[in-house]
Amino acid sequence: MDVVKKVALVAHDNCKKDLVEWVGWNWRLLLNHKLICTGTTGRLVEESIAKHLTKGQTMKYPITKLKSGPLGGDQQLGAMIAEGEVDVLFFFWDPMQPHPHDVDVKALLRISVLYNVPTACNRSTADYMISSRLMNENYERKITDYSSYTDRPLAP
Ligand code: PGA
Repeated sequence: MDVVKKVALVAHDNCKKDLVEWVGWNWRLLLNHKLICTGTTGRLVEESIAKHLTKGQTMKYPITKLKSGPLGGDQQLGAMIAEGEVDVLFFFWDPMQPHPHDVDVKALLRISVLYNVPTACNRSTADYMISSRLMNENYERKITDYSSYTDRPLAP
């Protein structure tokens, strides 16, 4: 992982206010990184950061906005994790409501664990993670060797 990290941000509707407020506290730190968001979260994050920029100032790295979560955005993010395109994940998911894309949410959480991606699922963990010195250093994420699985003998 480089010093400039690929940072994914996702918030469910009931958690968007929380994420936007959190971005309001941390926008300076976030500006140093490449942000990837699901669609609606991305729009809100962009608006929130824009409010803090001075006139004429632009973001160094434009936000990558995927599809909205329920329309495939979570799956796009999962695919990016599998491809090594995400370094850290801030995922404010709603523990109090079922979602039409619950299976996608579960898949995203599973793939982030599988690939050992640092994942914050609530605000206090997000605070700890964003303030970690590792956010601004090179960090070699340990990836489990799954070759015994991929090379497993299968009956023809
Ligand atoms: P959204 O998707 O940012 O497009 O609202 C988030 C989600 O529900 O996974």
